[in-house]
Amino acid sequence: MTMNVQSIASLPDKINQIRLLTAEIINKEILPNENKLWRYRQQDGVSDQDKATAHQLREQIKAKVKQAGLWAPHLPDEYGGCGLSFLEHAYMNEVLAYAIGAASLFGVVAPNSGNQKILLKYGSEAQRKKWLVPLTEGTMQSAFSMTEPDNAGSDPRSIKTTATRDGDEWVINGHKWFTSNGIAADFLIVMCRTDDPNGPSETNGKMTQIIVPTKTPGVNIVRGIEVWGKRSDHAEIIYDNVRVPAENQLGQTGSGHQAAQDRLGAGRVYHCMNSVGQMWRAFDLMVERAASRQVHGGPLHEKQFIQGFIADSYIDIQTSRLMTIHCAEQMESGADARTEISALKIYVPEAYSRVVDRAIQVWGAAGVTGDLPLAGMYQGARTLRLADGPDEVHKILIAKNVMKRFHSGGSWDFGN
Ligand SMILES: Cc1cc2nc3c(=O)[nH]c(=O)nc-3n(C[C@H](O)[C@H](O)[C@H](O)COP(=O)(O)OP(=O)(O)OC[C@H]3O[C@@H](n4cnc5c(N)ncnc54)[C@H](O)[C@@H]3O)c2cc1C
Repeated sequence: MTMNVQSIASLPDKINQIRLLTAEIINKEILPNENKLWRYRQQDGVSDQDKATAHQLREQIKAKVKQAGLWAPHLPDEYGGCGLSFLEHAYMNEVLAYAIGAASLFGVVAPNSGNQKILLKYGSEAQRKKWLVPLTEGTMQSAFSMTEPDNAGSDPRSIKTTATRDGDEWVINGHKWFTSNGIAADFLIVMCRTDDPNGPSETNGKMTQIIVPTKTPGVNIVRGIEVWGKRSDHAEIIYDNVRVPAENQLGQTGSGHQAAQDRLGAGRVYHCMNSVGQMWRAFDLMVERAASRQVHGGPLHEKQFIQGFIADSYIDIQTSRLMTIHCAEQMESGADARTEISALKIYVPEAYSRVVDRAIQVWGAAGVTGDLPLAGMYQGARTLRLADGPDEVHKILIAKNVMKRFHSGGSWDFGN
C-alpha cells in the first residue's frame, strides 16, 4: 500500500510541493525496498553481499533525496540542509515518517538532529566546521550523554558527572547510560556539572555540555543496553579521567541546562511528528487488513468492533497531528510553547500506542511478527512515554504553567 498525500488547500505551494516530493520518494524508493534496506539488521546469517546491497541502496536513496532538495530539513542551507522553518518541517515529517527508517535517509535522525541544532545554536564557528559539517554530510555519528543510572533522569539537575578544569583541559568523570547511538558515535556531547567560580551560582547554572570524541582515553563503553529483549545502541558509558581541550566546551560555562532544554523541546516535537507519520502507516495497514480479511462470514470491516477501531484511530491520529501542527506554529511564532510541548509529549505517544495496538489486534498473530512493522512501532510508542521526560513530569509542568497564569490574574487562552 502506498501513502496517499495530496495538496492541502490552505498551505503555500512550497510546503505542498515538499510534501508531494517527499511522498514520491517514500512510495517509489523506500516502501518497496523496506525489507532490503533494514531487515538484515534483525536476521542471523545475512551475507556480506546483502549488507553491501543494502548500503548501496541507502546511498542511492540519499542521493535522490539530496537531488530533490529534501536533505536535512531541520538545518539551514549553509550547513547542508534544505532550510525549512519549524512548521514546514512538521508538515514534511508526518509524510517521511510513514516509512520505517526514512528519517536517516532524509538526514534528520535523532540523536544527530538534536546535536546538530545544539551545535548550530551554541557551537563556535570552529566547532561547527569540525563537528556539525561532517555530521550533516553523514561522515560522522554523534550521541547525547546526559542520563545517569544512579540519578533521576526526570530531574536532570541531579546529575553527578563532573568536569573540572586543569589548565587548558576539562577532566571528566562520571557514569552515564541510555546514550543513544553511543556505540556508533564518533563524538559524544556530555552533560557535566562544572563549578566555575565566575559562572552563575544556581544549580542550573552549573551544567555545561562538552564535546568528547569517543576514542578519547578514559571513555569506556561498557555495553549496548538490552532494550525490549534486544541489544541496542543505547550505551552505558563510564567516563574515567577523560581529558579534552577546553575549547570542546559548548557555549558559555553554565549554559548546559538551557542548551539541553532547547534541544529536548524541539526534539520532543520531532518525536511527535515521527509518531504521526507512523500512526498514519499503522492506520493504513489496519484498514487494508480490515478490508481483505474474511472472518465469520464477512470482511472484518463490516464488524462493528472493527468499525469502532477505525473511528477511534482516525480520531487519535487527527487529534495528534493537529496538536503537533499547533505546537509547531507556536514555536515558529516565537511564543513560549512549553505547555504545548508537554501536552503533545504526553498525548501523542499514548495515542500512537492505541493506534498501533488496534492495528496489531486486527492483524491477529501476524501483527506481532517481524513481517510487519507494527511490533517495533508498539515498543517505540511505549518507550516514548519515558524518553525525553516521562509523562508525570510533563503533567506537572502543564499544571504549573496553568496555575502560574491563573495566579497572575489570567485564565488560559486556548487560541494562543
Ligand atoms: C530508548 C531510550 C532512549 C534514551 N536516549 C537517551 C539519550 O540519548 N541520552 C540521554 O541522556 N538519555 C536518554 N534516555 C533517558 C531518558 O531521557 C530517561 O530515561 C528519562 O528522562 C527518565 O529518567 P529515568 O529513567 O532516570 O527515570 P526516573 O527519573 O528515575 O523516573 C522514574 C519514574 O518516576 C516517575 N516520576 C518521575 N518524576 C516524578 C514526579 N515528579 N512525580 C511523579 N512521578 C514521577 C515517572 O513515572 C518516571 O517514569 C533514553 C531513554 C530511553 C528509554
